[in-house]
Amino acid sequence: MSRYMSSRFDALEAYVPGEQPQDKRYVKLNTNESPFPPSPEVLSAVNAAETERLNLYPDPEGKALREKLADMYGVGPENVFLANGSDELLFFAVMAFCDKGRPVAFPNISYGFYPVYAQLLQMPYTEIPLREGFVLEAADYCGLNQNIIIANPNAPTGRAIAVSDIEEIVRTNPDRVVLIDEAYIDFGGESCLPLIQKYDNLLVCQTFSKFRSLAGGRLGFALADKGLIADLEKIKYSTNSYNINRLTNAAALATLDSNDYYVANSKTIQENRAYTTTELAKLGFETLPSLTNFIFTRCPVAEGGALYRGLKARGVLVRHWDKPAISDWLRVTIGTREQMDIFLDKVREIVKEAGADA
Ligand code: PMP
Repeated sequence: MSRYMSSRFDALEAYVPGEQPQDKRYVKLNTNESPFPPSPEVLSAVNAAETERLNLYPDPEGKALREKLADMYGVGPENVFLANGSDELLFFAVMAFCDKGRPVAFPNISYGFYPVYAQLLQMPYTEIPLREGFVLEAADYCGLNQNIIIANPNAPTGRAIAVSDIEEIVRTNPDRVVLIDEAYIDFGGESCLPLIQKYDNLLVCQTFSKFRSLAGGRLGFALADKGLIADLEKIKYSTNSYNINRLTNAAALATLDSNDYYVANSKTIQENRAYTTTELAKLGFETLPSLTNFIFTRCPVAEGGALYRGLKARGVLVRHWDKPAISDWLRVTIGTREQMDIFLDKVREIVKEAGADA
């Protein structure tokens, strides 16, 4: 840090993204990307003609894309907000809805960016521990009278709560915003989106990064009552009015035209998830039930950090956190069947060695 950086960030601990090796040597199961490329329609939409127009700014309103998303989800364009990844969306939401008198609450354990944004913006926040087995208890959030962020399904656990539980949380916090981060909703979960018709304090966030194979394009979106969307627009136009670039916009429009392709990929991922979980169970692993494109799993013989390092040495990247509550666990993105077979082979090798050493 230079001597010019404001001291108000001295205590800020920045988010640490998963490793992104540039040499492609690894079987990469560490950042919950899709193993499948964007659809052929997307590849042809991001074409020379679109690239030639990069000298011009994109449409700041993202009109075409908002209309298409609105049609798809049965809402109006005034109910749709676009962001440069759902990370930007989360940042805008904390900026828009929190202040000293309106703290934000989220689970401890959940997505690591939530506390970072609260710290960056110097907003008070409460971390609510998950219950036994990493279960999120809806009652812990009812009547809190704080802004609330819940990833559903949760990350890195993969567990989901019922839409009826979400409704209870939204209903009992009528004067605060409840943000449901549905980054992983399209791998078997049930979206709470229909509730936005009934509650003006519910903000549903989704992303093109996982199910829609567009992590590199950076596109997130929110669906909510038009009041909340207008609030987010105000923050956007005060931060970065051209937050969606032309190429991502073209890619996203084409993505929405090839929904069947993505639904088929999601089905494959769900099959590979079941397969991987079953194979790990044969080795004695404990794996939480997951409705996402990753699993959270614990090895019976090797500590999480050792398993992570053993896998990395063998060319497989997974995610491990050195936090006491979860240091035994690994988050493993579900890839293709071939990738999961390589992962499983390396796990078997490590478990065998650990057993031999014991
Ligand atoms: N929410 C959750 C729960 C996530 O795991 C992630 C990505 N890892 C995001 C939001 C952000 O996704 P993106 O910015 O790529 O849309």
